[in-house]
Amino acid sequence: MTILTILIAPNPILRKKAQPVAMIDESIKKLLKDMEETMHAENGIGLAAPQIGVSKQVLVMNVPANVDVDGELIEGLSAGPDLFFMINPEIINKSDEFATCQEGCLSVPKQYAEITRPATVWVRYIDENGEILEHEFNYLQSACVQHEIDHLNGKLFVDYLSTMKRDMLIRKAQKVLHQL
Ligand SMILES: [Zn+2]
Repeated sequence: MTILTILIAPNPILRKKAQPVAMIDESIKKLLKDMEETMHAENGIGLAAPQIGVSKQVLVMNVPANVDVDGELIEGLSAGPDLFFMINPEIINKSDEFATCQEGCLSVPKQYAEITRPATVWVRYIDENGEILEHEFNYLQSACVQHEIDHLNGKLFVDYLSTMKRDMLIRKAQKVLHQL
C-alpha cells in the first residue's frame, strides 16, 4: 500500500467531473486500498479519488452509523459497517429534512464551515467486489457521503458558502500549506 499525495484547492483536477469506472480490475482495488491508507494517515473520514489526482468515480469513507453531525455518539444505535468503498456512487433519493454539520476537507486543510445538506440520502454504488448495493445514510455518514460524492462532481464544500467566504478559506488553506 502507498500513501498518496493529496491535492489542495484550487488545483484544477478538483474541479473536473470524475469519469465512471468501467471495470473493477486490480488497479481499481489497489487504488481503493491506497486511498484507505491515505485517508487513515491523514486522519480523514472520507477521501475521493480526484483528491489524489485520479479523476475516477471512486471514494472511501470511514464513519460509524451512530455518530451524529456534531460528532457525538447516538445512544441505542449500532455502529454498523463503518468502512465503505464506493465505485460510481449515485444519490438516488434524499430526505426533505436537513441537517447542518461543521465540515472540513483534506483538500482545504484546516478550514471549517457549517454546511446544510439533506439529513438522509440513499446511495446506489458498486462495492470493491463488483456488487451493486443501495444503502441509506444518516447523521455524519450522510454528510460525509454527500461531501465525497460532491468531489466526484468537481464540487467542494466551500462552494456552498458565499464567493467571498469561499475564496477566503481557499486562501487560508494555501497559507496553511506553505507553513507545513
Ligand atoms: Zn473533501
